[in-house]
Amino acid sequence: MILREGELCASNIGMTDELSILDRRNEILSRIQSAAQSVGRDHNDIILTAVSKVQPDDRIDAMLATGQRVYGENRVQEAYSRWEQRREEFPDLELRLIGPLQTNKSEEAVALFDVIETLDRPKLAKTLSAAMQKLGKHPRLFVQVNTGEEPQKAGVLPHDLSTFLKLVKDDNGLTIEGLMCIPPVDEPAGPHFAFLRKLANENGLFKLSMGMSSDFETAIRFGATHVRVGSAMFGERDYT
Ligand SMILES: *Cc1c(COP(=O)(O)O)cnc(C)c1O
Repeated sequence: MILREGELCASNIGMTDELSILDRRNEILSRIQSAAQSVGRDHNDIILTAVSKVQPDDRIDAMLATGQRVYGENRVQEAYSRWEQRREEFPDLELRLIGPLQTNKSEEAVALFDVIETLDRPKLAKTLSAAMQKLGKHPRLFVQVNTGEEPQKAGVLPHDLSTFLKLVKDDNGLTIEGLMCIPPVDEPAGPHFAFLRKLANENGLFKLSMGMSSDFETAIRFGATHVRVGSAMFGERDYT
């Protein structure tokens, strides 16, 4: 593993447990600040989403204690079990769905999330719109774009984007706030971030959710307004 300047080196020197969640979050915040500064951006324009999927309760509670209030989850059911109760205690939470959404989970997603970042097909636009009307709750929406045109990956294909945006507006009455992407793992992320920004500009959108633990600084240099950082903030996810 090659470390860049300023990068946390906890995982490779085996001191993950000694680094507190507070230290990790402060480290990420200062890296966000430096990356923003390097391109003349105001760091206050960049929202840090803490990706809490799979993380154990003690880490979640430690993160909440730091004042972190924006969290990303990629499964609806898992998000309910982690956040339904905590939401009562922390009314200023912002929960963002960043994983693929099945149409039959639309109502649950609308009920729980403040932002859904993964709208990517007409059928989902229809079920989300119906759920919003039924529940009288309107989470903000991002459209996920499959910038690498990977067959296994969710997201609207770039050349279908403007048609899709028009459809969700005209047919479903939905307002879209921004775009989200997950670049292919085996390619440099920069060109994908630049491409997403270009697509947003062309379509009159100004919010960009891009960048994760390994590349959020690059994403910020390319205009990210929302970065989604999981393992670098919480520690590695334990799937066992
Ligand atoms: C898990 C996940 C992240 C966070 O990944 P890390 O590498 O742990 O920062 C970001 N975005 C999406 C869509 C994810 O599923």
